[in-house]
Amino acid sequence: MRLGLFGGSFDPVHLGHLLAASESADRLGLDRVEFVTAARPPHKRPVAAPEARHEMVVLATARDGRFFPSRLELDHPGPSFTVDTLRRARRRWPEAELFFITGADAYRDVATWKEPEALFELATMVAVTRPGYDLARLDPFFRERVVVLEIPGYEVSSTEVRRRVAEGRSIRYLVPFEVEVYIEKHGLYRARS
Ligand code: ATP
Ligand code: MG
Repeated sequence: MRLGLFGGSFDPVHLGHLLAASESADRLGLDRVEFVTAARPPHKRPVAAPEARHEMVVLATARDGRFFPSRLELDHPGPSFTVDTLRRARRRWPEAELFFITGADAYRDVATWKEPEALFELATMVAVTRPGYDLARLDPFFRERVVVLEIPGYEVSSTEVRRRVAEGRSIRYLVPFEVEVYIEKHGLYRARS
């Protein structure tokens, strides 16, 4: 099995994430993509609670047979370091070939990650292009080892979605419909952060 792990804080998950996961699955011939919700990302503090972010991932992945929500990081205490997640994934799927997928922007500070070299032994590290992020600025060590996937640019971010909700503007066509309803129903992101 060729297994993709798509890590993110998903605060909230949006259509840019689904496009990135779908393109990665097609181009890399992945059998499935696990959306791994970061419980406590070491580099930022999410707005919505981990379980709420995960429930939105459950809703967003429901309509695609290749996509699965994953509790790999949620069910473990402590900060979510990618290298620990990959080791856990290896134990859970010992036969699988692993692909770790993120946007190009995530690799800009990859040198500050825990055990960066080990990542490349555990999985094929994949960077999808993201509007506004230039891969040329990446540390050469990582640039040589990361697989870059050029995907259609969809300029949406969770930050932009949260801002729009706080301003009372529409988020339709930026997030899946079910996620839009969830945000409204639970009153998420109304306060400016
Ligand atoms: P925030 O604005 O809160 O940082 P985000 O939109 O960057 O949210 P994350 O949960 O941080 O979402 O993203 C998870 C992964 O998806 C990251 O690796 C990120 O680079 C990638 N990603 C997010 N949005 C896009 C997009 N529009 N196109 C390509 N990749 C994306
Ligand atoms: Mg981000």
